[in-house]
Amino acid sequence: MNREKIEYEGDAHISSSVDTPLVKNAFETSDNDKIKNIQHHFSEIMKELGLDLTDDSLRGTPYRVAKMYVKELFYGLNPHNRPKISTFENKYGYQKMLVEQNINIDSACEHHFLPIVGTAHVGYIPKDKVVGLSKINRLVDYYSHRPQVQERLCLQILKDLQQTLETKDVIVVINAKHLCVSSRGIKDKSSFTTTLEYGGQFKEVSLRNEFLEIIKNDNNTF
Ligand SMILES: [Zn+2]
Repeated sequence: MNREKIEYEGDAHISSSVDTPLVKNAFETSDNDKIKNIQHHFSEIMKELGLDLTDDSLRGTPYRVAKMYVKELFYGLNPHNRPKISTFENKYGYQKMLVEQNINIDSACEHHFLPIVGTAHVGYIPKDKVVGLSKINRLVDYYSHRPQVQERLCLQILKDLQQTLETKDVIVVINAKHLCVSSRGIKDKSSFTTTLEYGGQFKEVSLRNEFLEIIKNDNNTF
């Protein structure tokens, strides 16, 4: 692939599929071996940049970066790390919209490996199943902790919730800042990106508007 095409696809943030592209044997290597291997490769990158790895301050960086990749920033790549989400019967028969808003997004752009930070807002209309509120936050956290494209992140959260809650009536909105837009390339510090995905009853404009009206209230005053 030529370099111009690589640059173009990165800046255009083109993604190829809903599923995160993974190789078949992605998790045959243990986390500890992954950390060991990444540590080696990252120290090679640092050396190539001309950094002196015998310096006290730099010595531990390859290990720290490797551990951070595997255990923190990209823990959501491994399906074993998906939070266990138990559903409960909708005993009280609540059938209106439930909104969980201002959920933290800490992700990374898969084209540049730079942070994507922002918030997600999720709404659903319960059928027979409901979930504990914090489970929605955990699910957002899980899908965020992968190299991502914002559109795909939005879709992955939507699809998982639709399956877990056994209803199509789910909506997901994400507002996020991409450091690959603010710190390099166009270097735009003020812009941010909004994506929304929805299904079922949220295809109706009035219901969607009701949801959008609710999330407009940024209740940071709690
Ligand atoms: Zn990027």
